[in-house]
Amino acid sequence: MMTTGYICNIQRFSVHDGPGIRTTVFLEGCTLRCFWCHNPESIRPKPEVQFFPNRCIGCGACVAVCPEGAQGFDENGMRVFDREKCTACGKCVDVCYAEALVFSGKEMSAEDVVAEVLLDRAFYENSGGVTLSGGEPALQVDFSREILERCRAEGIHTAIETAANVPWESLATLLPFTDLVMMDIKHMDSAKHHDAVGAPNALLLANARRIVQTGKPIIFRIPVIPTVNDTPEEIAAIAAFVRELCDLRIAQHDGLPGEPEPITLELLAFHRMAGDKYNSLGWDYRADNLTPPTKEHMAALADVASAQGVVVHSK
Ligand code: SF4
Ligand code: SF4
Repeated sequence: MMTTGYICNIQRFSVHDGPGIRTTVFLEGCTLRCFWCHNPESIRPKPEVQFFPNRCIGCGACVAVCPEGAQGFDENGMRVFDREKCTACGKCVDVCYAEALVFSGKEMSAEDVVAEVLLDRAFYENSGGVTLSGGEPALQVDFSREILERCRAEGIHTAIETAANVPWESLATLLPFTDLVMMDIKHMDSAKHHDAVGAPNALLLANARRIVQTGKPIIFRIPVIPTVNDTPEEIAAIAAFVRELCDLRIAQHDGLPGEPEPITLELLAFHRMAGDKYNSLGWDYRADNLTPPTKEHMAALADVASAQGVVVHSK
């Protein structure tokens, strides 16, 4: 039986989602609600219509075709979109030549996703590969597993980007077909974690430990977000946890040949480029007033993390 899933984008020639040149498959659906998320269109589990009013030329074609009366003009002639009525049939998107209405997300088979990944095979020969991101790839576990398994069979390096806020069984299904795990950690204080992303951190920290115990290479990624986790103390606490996991890996590897697989930590500076996307989805962009951290501040936080004895990269 063909396994299908929902993706919001396939990005070719990506250099930010793992080593080398990669094809990144962004899957739909996430268990967290990080208010600064750069991919808000991937948060909901199904395709939806994005509306960019600044592109609209007011032709009214969408109003004429919408069977639900979701598209219209108000008494001042302003375009309005009633998302409550929208069934995501896509008819308005088809007639909007200004591309003010676009579909975020589509259903694809794992086979078709892999066929698209294979288009860039020549670029993966020396380094690079495929990365499943999101959203949360472990939420569509059968779909993700099949993509990873097929890519592996083609000799392509596989990586997943996960928040790990999912049952362990889902991650355990993916890991045998995954060469590299990239996992976010946002805060070591569970209450602050909940405030920032809408869920406590116990599950994902427990999963971090279990991923490390599998011996897989892992990169812990910290999005450095002003007002959330950008103090030296907050970064030091995360780095201390990662150090503890490094020690666990070294202890597990004791007596075995070769070096243990690496554990590294990346600090990723907040940026404010997703505002338009939030507006197009009808959401408030709560990160609009945040100021991105300076290079100097990021360098200082990298020093703080390094002082805990972990390998740190700052971006
Ligand atoms: S079809 Fe597109 S350009 Fe025309 S009114 Fe609708 S949103 Fe605007
Ligand atoms: S996707 Fe379909 S239901 Fe939704 S606004 Fe467009 S035409 Fe109407």
